[in-house]
Amino acid sequence: VFEGLQYQEPDEFNDIRKKLSEDSNCRKIDVSAGVYRDENGKPYLLKAISQAEDILHDAKRDHDYNFCLGIPEFLNAAATIALGEKLVKEKKVASCQTIGGTGACHLGATLLSSFCNFRKFYIGTPAWPNYFPLIKQAGGEVIKYNYYNSEKKEVDFTSILNALESAPRNSIFILQLCCHNPTGTDLSQEQWDILTSKMKQKEIVPFVDGAYQGLASGDLEKDALPIQNMISKDMEFLFCQSFSKSLGLYGERVGCLHVVTSDAKKAEIVADSLRFIFRSECSSAPAFGALLTSSISKNPNLRAQWKEDLEGISHRLQQVRRDVHYFLTEKYKTPGNWDHVLTQKGLFWFSGLTREQSKTLIDNLHVYLPLNGRVNVAGLNKKNTEEFCTLIDYVVRNVN
Ligand code: PLP
Repeated sequence: VFEGLQYQEPDEFNDIRKKLSEDSNCRKIDVSAGVYRDENGKPYLLKAISQAEDILHDAKRDHDYNFCLGIPEFLNAAATIALGEKLVKEKKVASCQTIGGTGACHLGATLLSSFCNFRKFYIGTPAWPNYFPLIKQAGGEVIKYNYYNSEKKEVDFTSILNALESAPRNSIFILQLCCHNPTGTDLSQEQWDILTSKMKQKEIVPFVDGAYQGLASGDLEKDALPIQNMISKDMEFLFCQSFSKSLGLYGERVGCLHVVTSDAKKAEIVADSLRFIFRSECSSAPAFGALLTSSISKNPNLRAQWKEDLEGISHRLQQVRRDVHYFLTEKYKTPGNWDHVLTQKGLFWFSGLTREQSKTLIDNLHVYLPLNGRVNVAGLNKKNTEEFCTLIDYVVRNVN
């Protein structure tokens, strides 16, 4: 049966993670995976989650199956967090609970590609690597364009506009809402406004990945302003939501796909297709994380706590960025300009280190990061930031 099977593309990142786990050096520094770590380098349990867990535990719930589309109160909470109350009340959104944000992206791509026959997916590079196999498996075709200008360390807006100009009607543009993975470099509100107007005019479908909502500014609503921009233009679009990062629920796989349509009737038909697809793929999504999310959403005290948690995360990330900037520019006077560590947002600093420099850090210096030089600043803290910066200084001076 399996004789024709070939090895799949190797996963470089996985190999780095494996190396990290085998490294027994107690000073090793992990800035690899896109997860938040606290000041002690540990996974962070949000206070809001801890309190919601107590409530859920006391409620003594059962473990029945859920509906294919998901738990209704979660769907309502998730849609409101992403899109705002008004649109949800107008019933112009079809939502389906998914296995994390990855599941939302996959479900959205399947809907468009296999059920709507919209197959051209435009992706700006560098990108979250999982988009590529995910789109392929959903039956879509990937068209790449340049998202990031590595010389200027800013969004390559001309390239995005050119891609949009050349894209045929009914193409799909995958755009990240904020804290762009891997570049940490987001579109400005003005750029979003120009893009969304052009997309509407050219009948291009925005496919927005909101995996990091809340981590850019510490404010869920502020980070979702591009979504409100599209809603104000009466656009149809997809929003792939994840609570992995914003609630620290990585392993619970809490996500949701929201499809915004021009009227309630269309939303009903879309929801029916989502139900149909999800039934065959997963039947129904896991309950635990979804119940935590909806219980936070409906309880004003927990909402306030969540806000505080997110602000705390966002402030710590900014402080780490300031520390890195200080060590590289002022203390060690590392050659080069390091201002982008301050301007980039969220977990990621797209350092600009070369592949060789990153490789040296991994192979010889016990610092673990992907070979594209992306640094997850959440892996840094008061205890290891200076040492990390001395190692960056070393490779910048000694390795090309
Ligand atoms: N989209 C982007 C850009 C991501 O970085 C990630 C996770 O790292 C996801 C989607 C998927 O998130 P989840 O872990 O919820 O599946």
